[in-house]
Parts: sequence; C-alpha cells; structure tokens
Amino acid sequence: MNKEFHIKSPSDIGKQNQKVSAEDIRIIKSLLGNKKRKPSSHCLLCKKTIEEIGGKRIIAQKTLGIYNSKIYRGGGDPDFPELSIKLDDANYIVLCGKKGMWTDELIEKVKEIYLNDECPWFCQKCVGKTCHICGEILNNPIGSDVIYDDGCISHVAILGYNPGCVNESCENYKKWSK
Ligand SMILES: [Zn+2]
Ligand SMILES: [Zn+2]
Repeated sequence: MNKEFHIKSPSDIGKQNQKVSAEDIRIIKSLLGNKKRKPSSHCLLCKKTIEEIGGKRIIAQKTLGIYNSKIYRGGGDPDFPELSIKLDDANYIVLCGKKGMWTDELIEKVKEIYLNDECPWFCQKCVGKTCHICGEILNNPIGSDVIYDDGCISHVAILGYNPGCVNESCENYKKWSK
C-alpha cells in the first residue's frame, strides 16, 4: 500500500481541520487491524482522570458498557437498552446502560474518542464499584472488564469474597499488595 493519505497516523483521525472521508476511516481501520486502543484521558461520565480517582478504568460491567460490534444492536432489556452508533457499514459501537443515560452529548463524545483511536472508560466511582460503608473505591472492581494504560483489556472475576476498600479509616479497609 503506497497510496498517499492525509491521515498518516491514528492520532490524525478526528482532527477537525482535516477533511476525513469515510473511505479514509475505512482504510485506516483496515491498516490498524486489531491494534489496541489506549484508554482516553478522562472518565467519560465525571471527566476526572484515573490519577484523581484511583482504582481501575472500567469499560464494561453487567449493566453499563461500551463495546465494538460488526452488527447493529438495539433494544434488549428495556431498563438497560442497547444503542448502536454507526462508524461505517461494518463497524458499530454498542452502548448499554440505564435507560436515558446516553445523551446526545455523551454519544458525540464516544464517537470522538473512537475516531481519535482511543477507548472510552468509566471510573470506579461512576460505575459504583465503591465501598458500601465509606463510598471510597474498592480494591478491585469485581465483575468488570477493565482497560490498562497499554490498551490491554482483562476481566476482573467475582472473587467470592469482599475485596475491601482503599480507605484506611474505614472498617471495610483491606491492604492489597499489588
Ligand atoms: Zn467517573
Ligand atoms: Zn470503605
């Protein structure tokens, strides 16, 4: 492939001063293949960074999440419906969550993050992976898919015991070695 593109690297996608055609996006996607997306800089909902919140970045759990799909998906559980954003004819971003939570503004933001070749995520506070006593984050967001700095995604299994929270003055505190 030696055709000249005005998009030369993933970070060029989404730059507003460039005219990006659907064809460019398609070609870039095929060039990128299954390249991992790095997490975006801020939590999609509260717009804080992971350094401010601590814990892990969550991309999906039981009733809230964002994932890629080759097919359009919609409907599902009426209280937690699925919603698809079309990227192109063969790629959709599927959003699921509590009915009404996906505002137009939030959907635009997700699109923007994807076209910037990043992955949107939620912090543990927004997802509710917090201590039932003090409200601080839990040591581990059990039952969630999390994304790391390098774009690797892994699932945190339900442990079968309380992971404890990070707040030293809370009776639910547990010290975890990393
Ligand atoms: Zn958040
Ligand atoms: Zn606590």
